[in-house]
Amino acid sequence: MTEVQEKIIQIAGSITVDELAKALGLSVTQLIGELFKEGIVATINQRLDFDTASLIIEELGIKGVRIERKNTSTKLTNFHRELSDKAVERPPVVAVMGHVDHGKTTLLDTLLHKKTVEGEAGGITQHISAYQLEHEGRKITFLDTPGHEAFAAIRQHGAMLTDIVVIVVAADDGVKPQTIEAIKFAQGANAKIIVAINKIDREGADIPRTMADLAQNGLQPEEWGGDITMVPISAKRGDNLDKLLDMILLTADIEELKADVEIPSEGLVIESHMEVGKGSVVNLLVTGGELKVGEFIVAGNAYGKVRTMLDFRAKPKGKATPSTPVTVTGFKDLPNFGDKFIEVKDEKTARKMALLNAQQASDASASANVTSTDLLRMMNTADNSKVFNVIIKGDVLGSVTSVVDSLKMIDTGGEITLNIVATGVGDITENDVYMAEGGETVIYGFNVSVPTNIAKMAARDGVNIRTYRIIYELLDDAKGEMEKLLPAEVVETETGEMKIKGVFRTEKTAIIAGGEVIKGEVRPQYLARVYRGKDEIGEVEVESVQREKIKVENLVEGETGGIALKLEKKLTIELNDRLKFFTREIKKRKL
Ligand code: GDP
Repeated sequence: MTEVQEKIIQIAGSITVDELAKALGLSVTQLIGELFKEGIVATINQRLDFDTASLIIEELGIKGVRIERKNTSTKLTNFHRELSDKAVERPPVVAVMGHVDHGKTTLLDTLLHKKTVEGEAGGITQHISAYQLEHEGRKITFLDTPGHEAFAAIRQHGAMLTDIVVIVVAADDGVKPQTIEAIKFAQGANAKIIVAINKIDREGADIPRTMADLAQNGLQPEEWGGDITMVPISAKRGDNLDKLLDMILLTADIEELKADVEIPSEGLVIESHMEVGKGSVVNLLVTGGELKVGEFIVAGNAYGKVRTMLDFRAKPKGKATPSTPVTVTGFKDLPNFGDKFIEVKDEKTARKMALLNAQQASDASASANVTSTDLLRMMNTADNSKVFNVIIKGDVLGSVTSVVDSLKMIDTGGEITLNIVATGVGDITENDVYMAEGGETVIYGFNVSVPTNIAKMAARDGVNIRTYRIIYELLDDAKGEMEKLLPAEVVETETGEMKIKGVFRTEKTAIIAGGEVIKGEVRPQYLARVYRGKDEIGEVEVESVQREKIKVENLVEGETGGIALKLEKKLTIELNDRLKFFTREIKKRKL
């Protein structure tokens, strides 16, 4: 490698192979050639992220070059997190999580209808992603989401959304896998946990057992000296829901939840979709300031002027204070689920910031072409990895993001590469089927349907379309597909050993011998490696075993008997050879 001068290379989001070559004082072909030697096939325009570039410089042994991250933070990252002394109390934001069928939806529905003013909630038939209710004259914000993954996605985007997680556990079913996931999520997000032990009206409901189950999973009930509040409820009948709300408020009081209002408004995108005649319809959760109609806001690469603002009951709202969920129109593009939004002073600033964010996002996603993990994988496995191609369609952007993020979280130990061919909002279309053709691509639809003509077309072209309403089921299916791609594992199990005491007959494909089992056992169909002294001389299969000339099922340690062996290749067996028996299974691997 040529010696290069001492220099510092600054990398913003990512750098192309071309730029890196120039910065290193190498020709592009030289760099590509060097990369190739390392097992990396790169093109001139391929973008490399910071870690990858560092790794390359290190791998190539280039001295005297230092690379630095160039700071590209914009105003948008000045998201107000530190509270001023003018901060005021705000309602708690509560998420309800738990295992499927344990009663999350029922709880959210019952609360909505019981605790919001009579008549108002009756009009709510559509799915709502968040609502606010009043208890003891105070407000509580509840969030409903497509799944825990959605929260994980938000956490990945670096924002805290929930103050309190209510974990619903059915008293007749106990702790289940998604209960454990919910616990982990809440702990990871640093949210306070309250457990609602549900379905206590049911026969078979066992509160103490459920509590013990929870305790085993790290949630110690207050009653037993722990720190987790557990409220037995019936979401269906409405038993004890006031107590649950009391506990939520109590927790909120202890946490002293506050927000600044005298700042430009800010918050998070919790759902977004397009509607005919309205354009983008976006659900926001205000976390600071006061959002008003007419304000300019930016969220990721989308911006707009708030044209209309409605509360969860679809009633016009002039201003939204912290912890309030609202639905706004006016965004020119669809912002992404989990994006932060912030108010800016005018349209020009909004446009500029959205553009800047778009550039940064494209830098980041371009650099995702080759990440350092990919690179390491390429170096280690010389491209043995299999690719799982998918197209993801969802009813709203939030669910698409959740599905994509969750799929990315499936750990295949680097053996399978997930290739997201396309994503989109809405029903499965002809175009999706075209894209999936011939590429062994699975189209996943989440909460969307497949028009009959499209289903027919897919069946004709052998394209796989699978629709789901429960995210875990979709993920299980995807896992199953990925497992099919994993190379099978050969598992050998040692079963015993025999010492040859005599050879009775040697034919081309068979040997009959006698010996003593000195370890374990031998049965027909076992395989054996033949050892002479220390050398392995061949492999044979046991056809049958005999004790005193009678065929038997097995011979065990200490017994002497006859053995008929099948040969694949010519082999002779001699006195004192050893046969080490084993079984060989081909196992499909699980993720
Ligand atoms: P989710 O999957 O967690 O949202 O569960 P759902 O709210 O859809 O509830 C699953 C099933 O359990 C439904 O049939 C509900 O009617 C029933 N269910 C929910 N809560 C209760 C309860 O407190 N008591 C009884 N008996 N059934 C309940």
